[in-house]
Amino acid sequence: MLNIQSKLPGVSTTIFSVMSKLAAEHNAINLSQGFPDYACDPKLINLVNEAMKDGFNQYAPMPGANFLKETIAEKVEKLYNVKYNPETEITVTAGGTQAIFTALASIISAGDEVIIFEPAYDSYAPTVKLLGGLVKTYELAPPNYGIDWDMVKKLFTANTRMIILNTPHNPTGSILSSDDMKSLIKLVTGTDILILSDEVYEHLIYDEHKHQSVMLYPELRLRSFIIASFGKLLHATGWKLGYCLAPEKLMKEFRKVHQFNVFSVNSPMQQAIANYIKEPENYNGIAGFFQQKRDYFRTLLADSRFKLLPCNGSYFQCVSYSEISDEKDTDFSMSLIKEFGVATIPVSAFYQRATDHKIIRFCFAKENATLALAAEKLKNV
Ligand code: PMP
Ligand code: GLN
Repeated sequence: MLNIQSKLPGVSTTIFSVMSKLAAEHNAINLSQGFPDYACDPKLINLVNEAMKDGFNQYAPMPGANFLKETIAEKVEKLYNVKYNPETEITVTAGGTQAIFTALASIISAGDEVIIFEPAYDSYAPTVKLLGGLVKTYELAPPNYGIDWDMVKKLFTANTRMIILNTPHNPTGSILSSDDMKSLIKLVTGTDILILSDEVYEHLIYDEHKHQSVMLYPELRLRSFIIASFGKLLHATGWKLGYCLAPEKLMKEFRKVHQFNVFSVNSPMQQAIANYIKEPENYNGIAGFFQQKRDYFRTLLADSRFKLLPCNGSYFQCVSYSEISDEKDTDFSMSLIKEFGVATIPVSAFYQRATDHKIIRFCFAKENATLALAAEKLKNV
């Protein structure tokens, strides 16, 4: 008998796969895993076809196609007035998750501590552990999931190597403010602590709010890996393309890992995406588009028994069901699928301790008809 010692004991299949599978098995409306149920722009698909016909079918350069890196640099400068050098500070990745993995792998060694705010995207903690790092958790609480930075400071030790931020936030839809950023600057100035800033929902920010990228703050930018995903921007999560921005010194380490992790990523799609995002009108409307969906879904749920939590960004809406049931959120989600035909994500899945605040997450990146049908079912709960 083979004796295999798991590197990740206690880690099972990601909740996103579990819930999407259950949704299919029970023929439930799938508002669990975050992905659109509508088509991406046919213009974009044509651009991929053209790139294939034009011969972009062999390996792209290891850090990404120059055309795409240059276009990313232009987009970033236009949006945030910050310059990243395409040659040395931008790497195209196989989506945000790979970029997160690679950034962590390039920095974290055994015994290094990484501060994570939970609920958190479920790849962060297992990746840190796989690298021999230690996760220092700060648990955020509903309804606002705000951060008390004095409490964060208490987590610092001589081994603190990195802090992972995520704004707009999955799963809660909360966002960090400029005051948060200023508090963070005070905490890290004078230390060697690095930041991994997961900004995959940078464009999905609503009402009067402005995305607080770490790149807007030089004290943070110079110590940060910033993660972006074209899956969100282009309504094409299955393409698994994204990128990482970092100052040269950090990017050099990132690329040492990237080259042996994936080497380079899908070539024709890089050309197509570059051609597409060269025209800002192809993505300028995205916040308005999702804000309408958020508002529509919130209006639909207003006369249900679920209590809506705030949603300032991302394409997720969290609700409390504490006035409906005492069940654990995992059990409650199962009943929703089996008895009411709607799949959601129990928010305890985003806490390593499975902290249960009786909150579930819906993804509203769906056709209005899907949202309306789901709401009809949810009103029966
Ligand atoms: N970070 C967060 C917070 C996410 O929600 C996701 C989900 N898709 C990712 C990273 C990964 O993005 P990708 O699908 O491009 O790997
Ligand atoms: N980020 C997506 C979500 O939160 C899913 C990503 C994945 O399935 N790995 O639903």
